[in-house]
Amino acid sequence: MSEETLVITDPNADRYHTFGYISWWRQEVVRQATVMVIGAGALGNEVLKNLALMGIGRVVICDFDTIEDSNLSRSVLFRAADNGRRKVDAAARGVKELNPDVEVMAWHGDINFEMGLGAFRHVDAIVGCLDNREARLSINRFSWAIQRPWIDGAIQELMGIVRVFWPGRGACYECTLTDQDYQIIGLRYSCPLLARENLLQGKVPTTPTSASIVAAFQTQEALKIIHNLEVQPGKAIMINGLTNDIYTTEYPEKKGCLSHSALSPIIELPQARSDKTTLTELLAIAREQLDDEAVLEFDGEIVTSMVCHSCGTEEPIFKKMARLYENEATCPTCNGRRDMQLTHRITGQEPYLGRTLAQMDLPPLAIIRGRNGKERAYFELTGDKETFFKFV
Ligand SMILES: [Zn+2]
Ligand SMILES: [Zn+2]
Repeated sequence: MSEETLVITDPNADRYHTFGYISWWRQEVVRQATVMVIGAGALGNEVLKNLALMGIGRVVICDFDTIEDSNLSRSVLFRAADNGRRKVDAAARGVKELNPDVEVMAWHGDINFEMGLGAFRHVDAIVGCLDNREARLSINRFSWAIQRPWIDGAIQELMGIVRVFWPGRGACYECTLTDQDYQIIGLRYSCPLLARENLLQGKVPTTPTSASIVAAFQTQEALKIIHNLEVQPGKAIMINGLTNDIYTTEYPEKKGCLSHSALSPIIELPQARSDKTTLTELLAIAREQLDDEAVLEFDGEIVTSMVCHSCGTEEPIFKKMARLYENEATCPTCNGRRDMQLTHRITGQEPYLGRTLAQMDLPPLAIIRGRNGKERAYFELTGDKETFFKFV
């Protein structure tokens, strides 16, 4: 856009009037943008508030949690009456109240296992407002896989860190992890059947001030990315509210970093939908693309059934192993211990090829690998796009 198109609007009729004086600000660009905010806690509330005030076009709000009274001290969008409500719903309502122009989508779920990778491809910026390393590592690997930047924020007491991670441009989040970080993350993965309550342990104390400071920087970085302005990937803005020191520091890239793996090529399948497309159909597409020997592969193990050795009962499960709870290892018939039957590969011999991808516990907009020896292609269930991205 050139300078001539700069329009100064009526301050009495345009809530975005003042932004018109900022030389690089393009309200139309902001209005057209979709931002995904992952985590609707202290940081998420503040980022969403800022995005709403700026008139962002659409926000996707992601969280798995519900509101308790202790959230109210740091969450500008929540009210006392929201106790027990899903954070995403209260946050979506709060955004709408602040600015009805903004279209919102509330996504309630576990970002580690329940969001299709393709969903991240179809937004303009990803803002991580997380409180744990596990989720940050997931987002980081997703971002690398689909080659999109993300903006991380972290707070503790009066301190904060803001970082833009951009695949291929400087260090990524995983590059910054120490052995101790891996140990903490490893504890959560050590049990094959997830004990979910452990995920919430290790809460750190935060304040509304550090949340608003860090979230303000995060929102500004998102705004820059949307406007194609320069950002500094792989660098951290370190904020110490006790000493009032703010400085940036650059992380070294780690050789052999496990996150540095991009899916290529990603093939969009506009006709494919998780709830309609079957394994047979997707395998046929993969074989057309690669060759007759191609197989489908999933990133994690899928539990096809649970078998009880005591009473011999076999129960079909078809759920990602990572999403199973510990109690599901117990046989409902005899209370014996059950074993999991696992798969991560579809060769065309399976008795359940008629199942849809959703029935294999794959989420909307999932990206599934087709492989023939060394040759790979990644198939996105692009047909889910319209039903998945439902804004109000
Ligand atoms: Zn890395
Ligand atoms: Zn049994």
